[in-house]
Amino acid sequence: MIQPSPSASPYDILRKMTVIRGDITRQRVDAIVNAASTSLLGGGGVDGAIHRAAGTRLLEACRQLGGCPTGEAKITLGYKLPASWVIHTVGPIWRGGDQQEEQLLARCYRNSLLLAEQHHLRSVAFPAISTGVYEFPLERATHIAMTEVSQFLTSHPAIEQVVFVCFGEESYRCYIETLAEIQIAS
Ligand code: ADP
Repeated sequence: MIQPSPSASPYDILRKMTVIRGDITRQRVDAIVNAASTSLLGGGGVDGAIHRAAGTRLLEACRQLGGCPTGEAKITLGYKLPASWVIHTVGPIWRGGDQQEEQLLARCYRNSLLLAEQHHLRSVAFPAISTGVYEFPLERATHIAMTEVSQFLTSHPAIEQVVFVCFGEESYRCYIETLAEIQIAS
């Protein structure tokens, strides 16, 4: 008889979540997530950095995808990146908070991890989606990121490691504080 696997404890889940300060293009994980725009044809910020580091074949691959709606995710190879795959997701532009921004941001994290799971990937690195040019308030975005990821990991044990890569000091502090809050609450 197949025994149901015991559900993961909050401690197990939190052990899978790491916060670092650094450049996502340097991460040696199965997939890095790109905060892309709906065209998927490259831009500034983390998107520009990923395209520069991956080389021109990434743009060619993105052209084949035909864009991506906000909150959804699509996958390509990583080409010259240390990561094997790039998951491209499109975060919402902050427009005051009454345009489904929070739900759409949560969907970015969930759909990226679903895609990783479908491709049998075990480690995924995320940037702070929408908190740059798209101006999503950092604390809210961080809370959504961590809540959504921890909920996903609870019911999807195949993902072993999620790294939150913070580019600046402000986002690093915010992520560390939010992770501590979640630890205390669980
Ligand atoms: P968005 O348009 O979704 O707001 P941005 O690229 O403008 O995307 O910013 C998203 C986040 O990514 C910001 O916190 C920004 O500081 C961060 N960022 C920019 N470059 C990198 C990088 N090389 N590695 C990790 N994070 C980065």
